[in-house]
Amino acid sequence: MGSEDVIEKFRETGALLEGHFVLTSGLHSNVYLQCALVLQHPKQAESFGREIAENFKDQNIQVVVSPAIGGLIVGHEVARALGARFIWTERENGKMTLRRGFTLSPNERVLVVEDVVTTGGSTRETIETLQASGGQVIAAASIIDRSSGQADVGAPRIALATLNVEAVEPANCAACARGDVVIKPGSRKQ
Ligand SMILES: [Zn+2]
Repeated sequence: MGSEDVIEKFRETGALLEGHFVLTSGLHSNVYLQCALVLQHPKQAESFGREIAENFKDQNIQVVVSPAIGGLIVGHEVARALGARFIWTERENGKMTLRRGFTLSPNERVLVVEDVVTTGGSTRETIETLQASGGQVIAAASIIDRSSGQADVGAPRIALATLNVEAVEPANCAACARGDVVIKPGSRKQ
């Protein structure tokens, strides 16, 4: 499965829209990603999970960890493919934590998996939480990297597909300057 095949799966399922969008941040973008729309298909989630796992099959990964909610489905599939444990981090009072009795053994070999890496901020925060909990974070992975490969998460990182997505202030938006109608995803009629 190449990068183009991954992106094609996103297009087919409406998980990747191209046009003129206003994001929840208020910025305008020519691409809108909603991974849940491709991951609603278990076979697709399984295949992305296997593909990510393939990159780490010789790394003796013992546990896959994803930040909730976005990473849960694909992280679980990666863990299944690697025969590893799967747990997740979630925010408690704004801080990324392991809850629900989840623990790591000292130096347990961890792979962090997300659906999309944008700035890398939440991945980095997840990695720091896991290191503080005694884990040895071997690498991080995502289905999509929308940072053009720029995000630095403090660990080696791979993605199945890389997108160069621009998000700009409306005042600097070329599509607005052309007078293109802006779409708010989620309120879009199917
Ligand atoms: Zn615009």
